[in-house]
Amino acid sequence: MAEKISLGADGSLQVPQHPIIPFIIGDGIGPDIWHAAVRVFDAAVSQAYGDEKKVAWKEVLAGEKAFNETGSWLPDNTIDAFREYLVGIKGPLTTPVGGGIRSLNVALRKALDLYVCLRPTKWYPGTPSPVKHPEYVDMMIFRENTEDIYVGIEYAADSEESVRLQQFLDQDLKLDYDFRPNTGLGIKVVSEEGTKRLVRAAINYALAQKRSSVAIVHKGNIMKYTEGAFKNWAYEVAEQEFGEQVYTWGQWEKTKAEKGQEEANKEQQIAEEGGKLIIKDVIADNFLQQILLAPRDYSVIATLNLNGDYVSDALAAIVGGIGIAPGANINYQTGHAIFEATHGTAPRFANTDTMNPSSVILSGVMLFEYLGWHEVASIITQALAKTIEEKTVTIDFYNQMDNATLLKTSAFADQIISNFNRTK
Ligand code: NAD
Repeated sequence: MAEKISLGADGSLQVPQHPIIPFIIGDGIGPDIWHAAVRVFDAAVSQAYGDEKKVAWKEVLAGEKAFNETGSWLPDNTIDAFREYLVGIKGPLTTPVGGGIRSLNVALRKALDLYVCLRPTKWYPGTPSPVKHPEYVDMMIFRENTEDIYVGIEYAADSEESVRLQQFLDQDLKLDYDFRPNTGLGIKVVSEEGTKRLVRAAINYALAQKRSSVAIVHKGNIMKYTEGAFKNWAYEVAEQEFGEQVYTWGQWEKTKAEKGQEEANKEQQIAEEGGKLIIKDVIADNFLQQILLAPRDYSVIATLNLNGDYVSDALAAIVGGIGIAPGANINYQTGHAIFEATHGTAPRFANTDTMNPSSVILSGVMLFEYLGWHEVASIITQALAKTIEEKTVTIDFYNQMDNATLLKTSAFADQIISNFNRTK
């Protein structure tokens, strides 16, 4: 019998043998890539567990399909379903033009307070890449998902609010700045709680996966009380909550100041040899250089919303582009999680059965890992890797590979399934 996933008293996910998982099929290319992906998911679950386990997929509406059938872009019962069943997956959604909801994705993240945007970037052999050594990239990005300039506190240049805010800054806060006429304003929001829960999740993940380091990516040299505070709170959470399990560059700085550089280096070496997780920080612009120059120095990344947006697309481009970039939005406290392809609806290609379903397939892999169904995740990952390595690919990869075989979306899914047994 199909049952709900729930959260146990100890905060761990309780996954029944036949979990009900809501899905949004998505607009544009959504149906094509979903139909391909779900066949891969079901075949992999059956391969791993026979009849013992099976997902009961439950369709819920959002986007154009919801609007056409119900008059609402994001019906309340869709949000309620994700709330009730805890874990779900979605295809890309059209952003409604002209008023109402700004973005359906943002609305869903907000409703469930999904504070981590998780974006793995790992290269699969054979995937076309613009860099010489894409295999050096293997990073898990934890992007803060609820704060920063994305909160949406913005005032247009010609608005009364902008003028009033300028007056307040000038008169009440004695700001020494001459606003030019017609100036728009935006407010950046970064809190201790928002920072700490994101960084805590990144460190927990890094420890559980035995990763070597967590890098805090920030622009605190310029934005001292938002991004600089993010860095300080991140070190605080590492030192106060994880103690002996981690070694921070903050500690290194302190030892250097008190006992000199040599002692600090010695301390760091002992920590590394002892297998401690290293917590370091890097300024965002430098980080964008480092992912090209020294990607092996980075493993888990914890960063703010806007930096995370730039960084995850730059890294996705290195490992094969948006056709293969999965993502998840997670609240580790409540257990709520929505997995999603990170690309959009590519409307020109709707119903052509040509687009790459890898992004939604790998989002599914993340979902199965989240459920603890690791066997399923590894069957799919290995078969997908094999399919790419053998150059049997969809148009986006085909155009960049020599001697490849072009497959439709549906045939690409068939090829992955037929590769299940060949990867053992
Ligand atoms: P897009 O990601 O839909 O498409 C840009 C281009 O990327 C496409 O023309 C195509 O060449 C390529 N592409 C996208 N997905 C691909 C795939 N699976 N395989 C191969 N190539 C692929 O971006 P856009 O055109 O800027 O946005 C279209 C719509 O999607 C807009 O309404 C936008 O708001 C929405 N959108 C939704 C999401 C989401 O739901 N998560 C994300 C981004 C954009």
